Amino acid sequence: MQLLLLLEAEHGHTHMERVETDQNKMLEENNMQGLMQDWPLLCSKIIDHAALYHGDREVISRSVEGPIHRTNYSSIHARSRQVAKRLEKDGIAMGDRVATMAWNTWRHLEAWYGILGIGAVYHTLNPRLFPDQIAWIMNDAEDRFLFVDLTFMPIVEAIANKVPSLEKIVVLTDAAHMPETKLTNVVAYEDWVNEVDDDFAWREFDEKSAAGMCYTSGTTGNPKGVVYSHRSNVLHAMAASQPDMMNLSSRDRMMPVVPLFHANGWATAFLCPMVGASMVLPGPGMDGQSIYQLLTQERVTMTAAVPTVWLMLLQHLDKIDGTLPDLESVVIGGSACPRAITRAFQDKYGVDVIHAWGMTEMSPLGTICTIKPEYADLDGEAKLDLQEKQGHPPFTVEMKITDDENKSLPWDGETFGRLKVRGPAVSSAYFKGQGAENFDAENWFDTGDVAHVDPHGYMEITDRAKDVIKSGGEWISTIELENLAVGHDDVAEAAVIGVVHPKWDERPLLVIVPMEGRNPDKQDILEFMRPKIAKWWMPDDVEFVEEIPHTATGKIQKTVLRQQFKDYRFPGT
Ligand code: AMP
Repeated sequence: MQLLLLLEAEHGHTHMERVETDQNKMLEENNMQGLMQDWPLLCSKIIDHAALYHGDREVISRSVEGPIHRTNYSSIHARSRQVAKRLEKDGIAMGDRVATMAWNTWRHLEAWYGILGIGAVYHTLNPRLFPDQIAWIMNDAEDRFLFVDLTFMPIVEAIANKVPSLEKIVVLTDAAHMPETKLTNVVAYEDWVNEVDDDFAWREFDEKSAAGMCYTSGTTGNPKGVVYSHRSNVLHAMAASQPDMMNLSSRDRMMPVVPLFHANGWATAFLCPMVGASMVLPGPGMDGQSIYQLLTQERVTMTAAVPTVWLMLLQHLDKIDGTLPDLESVVIGGSACPRAITRAFQDKYGVDVIHAWGMTEMSPLGTICTIKPEYADLDGEAKLDLQEKQGHPPFTVEMKITDDENKSLPWDGETFGRLKVRGPAVSSAYFKGQGAENFDAENWFDTGDVAHVDPHGYMEITDRAKDVIKSGGEWISTIELENLAVGHDDVAEAAVIGVVHPKWDERPLLVIVPMEGRNPDKQDILEFMRPKIAKWWMPDDVEFVEEIPHTATGKIQKTVLRQQFKDYRFPGT
């Protein structure tokens, strides 16, 4: 043994290393290569495909200026080549970050494909963040260029001088609508882009090159930059459009209400042109009435957004006694979809609800709750129970749940643990190496969510790891309690937080925003919940508030809520 160690030390290799090297050599020698073409998975190929095979398919937008605008993939293809050519004229090249702060419109789409086509990197900015946070993010990304909608000019005026890397601002409008501004280096998009023609060949490069960036909303610490590649965007769109996922086709008219600046726009900018689905883009019209108008006038068949948007639409439908004759399905994600929303869409309007879970770090699709044969016979409340789950992953997503020691937990639909994922469209790191603790050596990314998985692979989120309530050493799911509470007719929105308790460490406090015009009773709500949950999960108290704080992406801001109730103590403690 000693001799072996001496020999190893002499030759600079351990025994294990030698075995591995020999194996690698053998694999290399015996490796027979496939004889298929090397066709880099570049995003420009998506818009090429759309123009070639679905060129006449409409792209309809509510413009920021007001009127409805109509174009098609053929024209978007041509104009995005103009953007590409014009960007190069301005010195923008491979790897440069080009920010966008814009609603979903045809111009935003043209800008994305123009940026992508020269190997520059689109960087979507969320205008709902605080201006200083936006400036921080732009500086971190070192944005050189910005496409901005008229709506957000006041934000840009407030922060432009705090971002030294920013060279030019292109306002997504025409000369007639240009605002007065004290900023220099500001041009109208239509003037700027029309300085060149569309005679331009997309640049070719490695498919692993960066394509886009989006910062996570991160409730603690600085925002972290997620960097998508061309390959990840293409693979993700292929996976997400499959029949058991979003089931999108050239026969669909898709309305992404979810903005392009939320989690890679839920990939809709890639999905729709890839399959040749028409796009209906809501621009700045995010209220119930505007959305209803586009859904019906433009005969939208599929749409996607966070629950709060659908709450507004359903309230509007109620008010006007509206119907949704063309709409077939609605994808709901970003936070847990309340049962009442699923029930209303399906029972009242005949629209299928597809509950989905994802993250900025996952491009973003993680799971979708479509119905596998095992559950095809479910109906009524049992089907709604299933649809409260976030669902099963596409081919490209591996998932597991673990305990705090990273030991895998069983998929029995009950045991919950930390949800971890990996795959070709899952982040391997954050920009500039931040947040390295979220990734392990085997590439598993810790989502920060807590979930259980059933024997058929249906995952259900029970909490964010930092929100889960630890009562007497056991975990209580705040999401499950919230879902239950919003089922009560008097409750518009509910949030559950843990409050310190002398005996149990933490106990649940239910915070409620009452439905407009209602005057709910604490005891009545608790009695409504009691038969549906374990006794020890019952909230210890209920507080009524006018408003629950939300993040810039519409999620309940539990940190702020906990701060708000930091001095609260349960009666008798
Ligand atoms: P973001 O990266 O901003 O899209 O946020 C991702 C996080 O949103 C996830 O880690 C979840 O905590 C939450 N989330 C997204 N979709 C859902 C869903 N359907 N149900 C519950 N939480 C969700």
